[in-house]
Amino acid sequence: MPAPEFQHTVAKTASLSGTALHTGDKVTLKLHPAPVDHGIKFKRKDLQDEPTIDAKIENLKTVERATTIGEGSVRVHTVEHILSALSAMGVDNAIVEIDANEPPIGDGSAQGYVDLIKRAGVTAQDEPRRFFDVREPIHVESKTGALLVLLPADKFRISCTQAGPNNQFTQFLSMEVSPAVFEREIAPARTFVYYEDVKPLMDKNLIKGGSLENAIVVRGDAVLSKEPLRFGDEFVRHKILDIIGDLALVGRRIRGHIVAVKPGHATNADLARLITREQTRRSALAAPRTLPSGDGGLDADQVMQILPHRFPFLMVDRIISFETETKCIGVKTVTINEPFFQGHFPGHPVMPGVMQVEAMAQVASILLFKLAKTTSRIGYFMSADGVKFRKPVLPGDTIFIHAELTKSRGERLAKAKCYCVVNDSVVSEAELMFTFLDK
Ligand SMILES: [Zn+2]
Repeated sequence: MPAPEFQHTVAKTASLSGTALHTGDKVTLKLHPAPVDHGIKFKRKDLQDEPTIDAKIENLKTVERATTIGEGSVRVHTVEHILSALSAMGVDNAIVEIDANEPPIGDGSAQGYVDLIKRAGVTAQDEPRRFFDVREPIHVESKTGALLVLLPADKFRISCTQAGPNNQFTQFLSMEVSPAVFEREIAPARTFVYYEDVKPLMDKNLIKGGSLENAIVVRGDAVLSKEPLRFGDEFVRHKILDIIGDLALVGRRIRGHIVAVKPGHATNADLARLITREQTRRSALAAPRTLPSGDGGLDADQVMQILPHRFPFLMVDRIISFETETKCIGVKTVTINEPFFQGHFPGHPVMPGVMQVEAMAQVASILLFKLAKTTSRIGYFMSADGVKFRKPVLPGDTIFIHAELTKSRGERLAKAKCYCVVNDSVVSEAELMFTFLDK
């Protein structure tokens, strides 16, 4: 198993000012740190109550030219470039505060955002990152010839083919996306637009902030921009930038290889939606809890060397971990074949509460036997206090039985605080007292 990757946020607040593409207004963006599992949220500082919008695919509103997210009547436009920079530079959690309806467009690339993130610094947090692992190919395509295929791979990789009208400016690039590669190869690539597409918008005054300073304009065979092309294949690089930004709306890091042909915001968003749907399906199917495979547990044979109990009365399948000498977790998988289900109750199988108390007692006894370093004695129940049965245990449930010795008086008396957990909720608990007698 590779070491877990941890979530990251920015180390401190940093800000950036510039022009909003659509309104031409001045906008200031502040990037703030955020706690684990927060994700990326945009905050509209200019509106009453300063509403925030999750950068999630569920909030996607439009994909015309740029990616717009919103909730209720609140919108944030052109989120893809800053999301691309945050995702590629490894920022999982942050608040993007803006005092307008979109972030500053900068020079049409993600360069300004990379600089901003570097000024803020990136710092590790103490929860593991969430990933979407691609298990089988998935793909989306559009009537206009865009195609995105997501293939299994152990790293995040993008291979992209871009082609303009009449297959002009056909470019291909393939790369593994890492912070260093993004900063050097992708972030400086600027937005490009076709003159025929933007002319009507300029005429209607819909892109007041648009100029040759923040976009490359393609008119026929001519490439118009204030600054010469930064890369011979700047267009495909910007397409990759947009894919990373749009797929950041998944809210998880993707471990897989994206093969994209003539991608656009609409198909990027379709893929993000498909990934999110697949993730939701997997979460619903996922085992409630996987067995940790740490050292120091006991398998069924070892449990039976310690406990004298046997079928149908052995209520521990194994011990999965000893936290300390006085604390451990046992596990019991409850199947429909348990003998008690025959009578408790016919047609309505529920594990008897007393059997859960028995399971707690057996796990606590293992602690005691280990402490006493002998199995020549046998533990007898003296009392059970504070017994509570909170939820029914049903066939198919896996019970995690937690036991902690709280008191042992001499060699013969001991107390243990125990609880049974199914699907991360406590189903029963009790405080047990034992005495030990020679067999
Ligand atoms: Zn873009």
